[in-house]
Formats: sequence, C-alpha cells, structure tokens
Amino acid sequence: MSDIEALKQQLGGLQGEALAAFAAAADLDELGELRVRYLGKKGRLTEVLKGVGKLPPEERPAIGQSVNAVKQALAGALQEAEGKLAAEAARLRIEAERVDVTLPGRRRPRGAMHPVHKGLQEMTAIFSQMGFAIAEGPEIEDEFHNFDALNIPPEHPARAMHDTFFIRDMSNAEGEPMLLRTHTSPVQIRAMRRCLEEGEPPLAIVAPGRVYRCDYDVTHSPMFHQVEVFKVDRDMSLAELKGVLQHFLSTYFEKDVPIRLRPHYFPFTEPSAEVDIGCVFCSGSGCRICKHSGWLEVLGSGMIHPNVLAAVGIDTDAYSGFAFGLGVERLVMLKHGIPDLRLFFENDVRFLRRMGA
Ligand SMILES: [Zn+2]
Repeated sequence: MSDIEALKQQLGGLQGEALAAFAAAADLDELGELRVRYLGKKGRLTEVLKGVGKLPPEERPAIGQSVNAVKQALAGALQEAEGKLAAEAARLRIEAERVDVTLPGRRRPRGAMHPVHKGLQEMTAIFSQMGFAIAEGPEIEDEFHNFDALNIPPEHPARAMHDTFFIRDMSNAEGEPMLLRTHTSPVQIRAMRRCLEEGEPPLAIVAPGRVYRCDYDVTHSPMFHQVEVFKVDRDMSLAELKGVLQHFLSTYFEKDVPIRLRPHYFPFTEPSAEVDIGCVFCSGSGCRICKHSGWLEVLGSGMIHPNVLAAVGIDTDAYSGFAFGLGVERLVMLKHGIPDLRLFFENDVRFLRRMGA
C-alpha cells in the first residue's frame, strides 16, 4: 500500500471514530474534551497531518483536500452534537426549576397574644372604662417604695431574702438596697406623689405589671403579673370598694358572680379584706376546685392605711382611699379552668393554641 493510500485509510478511520465519539458524548464537558483530542493542536488529526510531509510534493494537494473534508465533517458533527447537548441541558434545568402553580401555598403560623397578657389587657380595660387612669412603675424598686412607704415593718417576713429578690451591689441614691418589686403596690406611692406635685386628689389608678417573689410550684411562679387598683378621694368607703369589685369581677367572668369580703390583715390597708367570689365552676354548690366551700379566694383589698397616705404627705383628715391587688394568672386560670400555673411559662404551643393564642 502506498503512503497516500495508508494516509487516506488513516483519515477515514479517524473520521469514523471521531463521529461515533461525538455522537456518544454525554454532556458538553465531554464534548469539549473530544474536540481537543481530535481537532486540537496536539490532537489526532495533527498527528495524521505529520505523515503528509513525507509524501512527494505532487501528491500533497490531493491528500490536503481529504484532510480538509475530514476537518469540516468533524467540525460540523461537533457543532450538531453541541447544539443537541445544550438543548438537553436547558431542558433539564427547566425541569428542575419547574414551579407547580397548582400546589397549595405554605401556611405561615400566625402569632398571637399570650393568654396572660390578653388577660392583663382585658382587666386593665375594664378599670379603664370605669375611669381609672393607667400607670406604671419600675420593676426594680428600692425598699422605701416597696416596703417602708407601704407600712411594711422591718421585721415583716416579706422583707427576708428567702421571699424577695434583692439585687446584689445595687443601691439607690440614699444607699438603700434595691430589689425586684414583690407587688405592684409601690405604684400607689409613686402615683400619689406625682398627684401631689401637680395638685390634690381625687386619684384613681389601675397599674398592671410584672412582680417577683422567690416561689415556684403549681400555683406560684417567681415572676407573675398583678393589677393594682386604688382610688384616693374624700369620703371613700368600703361600699365603693365593694361596688368596684363587684362590677369588675362580673364583667371579667362574664356573669353575675356573688362576692364576699372576709376580714384579713395587710400592713398597707386598714380595714383589710380577702375577696372571694362564688365558685365559677360549680356556681356555689361545691366542687374539688373550691374545696367544696362554694367560694374562691381571688384577691386582697382594703381601705388604704392612713400611714401609707401620710408617708407621701396626703392629708388623712381630708382624704381616704381603697386599694386592691389582683393576681392576673390566678384570674386567667379561674376563667379558663387551667389547672397548673406553670403551663403559662413553659411555652408549649399546644397549650397556647388551645387557649386561642
Ligand atoms: Zn366549686
């Protein structure tokens, strides 16, 4: 076989092999590698061309034409394969990104108010409608506002470390220790002082807020909420206190609840009374929750002790007042039949959902 015949055969074999490889390429990357292998500077076609130099000059044009024909065939086949693979890649990409417009949308869970906060707002609103102004005070208090001004003597057990959270290394300008307020009653002192700065009573305040005590069990939490309500005016009486309580409790529980005042002792009121309501679960006939008494204790109340009024400089001959503080969690538990206070603070969404939060 002459050299030229051998070269032509080589070219034919190369073309067949390359076309088959192009057609079988799985993707554009592989096709790119094949282009280099067959048509690149150091590729298979270049290798065959080296043989052309050995031919006599008169035979070279003929083989040159064959080489060009193979080159063109390969280039055309490459382009075609490239087009097919690019289209396939685009199809796959679109497939992967396809949006099913018939799928239902993702539901975002809706946030809601915590049952305790909701209760707090309900209660505050009822007093607000009765004409009580809303006031707030600091949660970090000094001993004067939390104890002394409220006629709580130094030996009172509430002032002990095991009942009250005192704040280490913190004192007010007078050097008194600071503490987390144990009740909302200090707002009485602050509001009365503010009132005197601007004028004279009457003064009717509702003060909702957080309070803190060293306590933790089924019915006690170290942090809980109170609503403090008080009024200072001329000729205040227990009858007015009872009327306000009756209206508030019946409105909050959404039914006419009987109430009774039981004599009690609080340092900051005199006389003082525990307030009971007819059991909202058994309507007074007796059940496990009211311990078969037909009554539920809901809050402490009384006529503001003259010592408290005097502590802020209110003339006790001219003015008197009533005050009570209620536990928000306690009332929300009674209204909704919740057995354990701790449910409010465990953040279990199943409980919160059932509460409509
Ligand atoms: Zn009962």
